[in-house]
Amino acid sequence: MSTETLEFQAEARQLLQLMVHSIYSNKDIFLRELISNASDALDKLRLAALTDDELTAEDLHIEVVADAEARTLTVRDNGIGMARDEVVTLIGTIAKSGTADLLRRMKENKDKDSAELIGQFGVGFYSTFMVADRVTLVTRKAGEQTGTRWESAGEGTYTIEEAADVATGTSVTVHLRPKDEEDALYDYTDEWKIKEIVKRYSDFISFPILLVKAAAEPKAEGDDESPAAPETLNSMKALWARPRSDVKDEEYAEFYRHISHDWTDPLEIIQMRAEGTFEYEALLFIPSRAPHDLFQRDGARGIQLYVKRVFIMDDSRELMPDYLRFVKGVVDAADLSLNISREILQQDRHIQMIRRRLAKKVLSTIKDLMTKDAEKYATFWREFGRAVKEGLLSEQDDQKAILDVSSFASTASADPTTLADYVSRMKDGQDEIYYMTGESRAQVENSPHMEAFQAKGYEVLLLTDPVDEIWVEAVPEYDGKKLQSIARGNVDLSADEDKPSQEKTGEFAPLLTWLGETLDEVKEVRLTSRLTTSPACLVSDANDITPTLEKMYKAMGQ
Ligand code: ADP
Ligand code: MG
Repeated sequence: MSTETLEFQAEARQLLQLMVHSIYSNKDIFLRELISNASDALDKLRLAALTDDELTAEDLHIEVVADAEARTLTVRDNGIGMARDEVVTLIGTIAKSGTADLLRRMKENKDKDSAELIGQFGVGFYSTFMVADRVTLVTRKAGEQTGTRWESAGEGTYTIEEAADVATGTSVTVHLRPKDEEDALYDYTDEWKIKEIVKRYSDFISFPILLVKAAAEPKAEGDDESPAAPETLNSMKALWARPRSDVKDEEYAEFYRHISHDWTDPLEIIQMRAEGTFEYEALLFIPSRAPHDLFQRDGARGIQLYVKRVFIMDDSRELMPDYLRFVKGVVDAADLSLNISREILQQDRHIQMIRRRLAKKVLSTIKDLMTKDAEKYATFWREFGRAVKEGLLSEQDDQKAILDVSSFASTASADPTTLADYVSRMKDGQDEIYYMTGESRAQVENSPHMEAFQAKGYEVLLLTDPVDEIWVEAVPEYDGKKLQSIARGNVDLSADEDKPSQEKTGEFAPLLTWLGETLDEVKEVRLTSRLTTSPACLVSDANDITPTLEKMYKAMGQ
């Protein structure tokens, strides 16, 4: 059995540097991260044992062992454990997408929002290096014979070796740095401090977290004092099963952090319970900001599935439509099999029903926000509006409800407007909702197409998200009013008097013919009354694709 010294992957090294030279002001969270990992490992073993007869999952628990003398704090679990190569890949590298992006942003921001950024990313295990000068991890994977011992001072390399006589599961020992000052207020081996942290951050963890006293001096002969039974530090109550009035906002926020790795508080909390033929409870969170991978295909998607309090799987995409993929939370269903697979989930009628109900509830919650808390709604729409609008294309059933909670930039004011408000401002005789798509507000506002509308005082929606180009094609109307692009076809602005007269057209005929012949990219050149100051503008046919869409297709190589 030889000891190998390996290097951390480059990105992991950089992240560790940030931890060692700690940018978080709140170092307590390292314990939360270790407990969170232990809890995940226990979930995984319990799940694996359901289908693998070789594995047993009994007496699952987490131990916290404090040794003031040795200045160590150990978090131990009897969960799934890791094989040697897993230790190398899971601990020695960061596989998460977005790491490079995160590090770049952190460098650009210097220290300003680093803590926030890193919290959003979820650094997990590495946070131990905020308080440790050395971390030792000993682990044995359930079902395997040999264990692995890993150790690092967080400075670029780690050692790894085989270890004998290791119990199944993982034990992480944090060798605490020397105290800064003799009169420091606390130490992470202080019992009260450990209790405080567990209570604050990990109370809802569904396995017992036991405080174990480090073995003191070897017992003297005849000393029959039996060691005190370990104390359980957490209440283990499933938050979603408790009445809303019993749960403090901070408890919800901590639970949200545990499942989302988001450092900020959620914007909105949604609790649901369905009784009857198919029972379930749900606790959902709308985050207060978009994750960095919201528009990445492989980005994390957030609903966890439980069956009767037992964790079944992360990332259940089947439980929430894709356009609401930023919603985090838990669904606990009473009547599913514990062995349910993703394949079965996809076809399960009950799951589809839950998904519809959850989506409806999220949309109605947002609608309530619009009237009750305009500021929160504005935050929501700024962060997630682009994703929500995708639903106009993918989810026919939700179209109306999505339009109701959407808002758009408009010529009426600097603030976005809802479609309902637009409709309420429509002029007498106006029976269409006018919009124009483009790349930016300025570009659209300065477009020649805008002139006649501006002159006549018609409000125009300014749609500048790429997805706007597409959904407007799929949504025929709102509240009985057709959505009409001002850049396409003949927008009938008003009575005939504004149409160029026969005589005028005749007068300009030679010019129009010459222009038509000279500009062979255009289909037709005609006289118009839609412009007031610009001499000319390009108009698409009613069925042509828009310039922005054309650009998008070109960019996609079509
Ligand atoms: P995250 O928990 O967000 O994945 P961490 O840095 O906390 O990130 O942990 C990295 C990975 O290391 C985990 O995903 C898990 O696979 C593994 N790991 C960490 N702690 C444990 C543990 N106690 N038991 C088993 N695996 C663990
Ligand atoms: Mg973790």
